[in-house]
Amino acid sequence: MRALPATVLAVCGLIASACGGTGSGGAAAGQAAPATTAAQASPPSSSSSSAKQSPPDAKPLDGKVIVIDPGHNGANYRHPAEINRKVNVLTQWKPCDTTGTSTNSGYSEAAFTWDVSRRMTKILEGRGATVKLTRTSNNGVGPCITERAAIGNKAKADAAISVHADGAAPSGHGFHVIMPKKINGPVDKVVGASSKLGVAVRDAYRKGTGLPYSTYIGKNALNYRSDLGGLNLSTVPKVFVECGNMRNATEAAKFQDPRFRQKIALALANGLQHYLEA
Ligand SMILES: [Zn+2]
Repeated sequence: MRALPATVLAVCGLIASACGGTGSGGAAAGQAAPATTAAQASPPSSSSSSAKQSPPDAKPLDGKVIVIDPGHNGANYRHPAEINRKVNVLTQWKPCDTTGTSTNSGYSEAAFTWDVSRRMTKILEGRGATVKLTRTSNNGVGPCITERAAIGNKAKADAAISVHADGAAPSGHGFHVIMPKKINGPVDKVVGASSKLGVAVRDAYRKGTGLPYSTYIGKNALNYRSDLGGLNLSTVPKVFVECGNMRNATEAAKFQDPRFRQKIALALANGLQHYLEA
């Protein structure tokens, strides 16, 4: 993978807040050119004829649209006014975005989520999906959580996922998945589907990374919330994954290892695929 601009990260810890913020990003980026569609019928030349073969290069996620939201953004901490502006997430007003957390050595959540999301994009595009990201780099600001949700909605995503890592007490460890609750709002109609997506992601993440269920939140790594704009405002099936606790030394070391991030990306891609194929 390309190197990430790691420069701004160290400062992040100074003002980092716990991850709880929503993420959903802005500028649509990284769109894969959908591989040219299937069979431009070859001339009816030879004898082999079967008309109902699937195209030779059919892929499991052909035709699926996935929106990946890498939580936070690398330059958020330098633009507090913009980031702290309050936005309406239906159940309350919240800051437009947050800085996210970091490991004790200064590896930021924003850099982590960006790297994992790009790895996921590559994997999912390889499986035929059209993938959209909610931000285009890790040196920008925002977008607001409202916009992050809107990107998934506008894309009519078959599934959307917001990638985060937590900043909890150092003794806590493990991952969890956050799903929306009914709030008498537009998200209500995708609460059931999001729950299925959440379980698929939970199972694939556990299997693929070996990380345990969170020891400090949720039940069996599942948590339901009505305070996250990225979920409340989604009209497509969507979950958040908190990949682990960046303040826990063991998990921090794993997150800083690119090979482990690849493992995470693969696990999350598998979870999405299992949901989409079900
Ligand atoms: Zn976060």
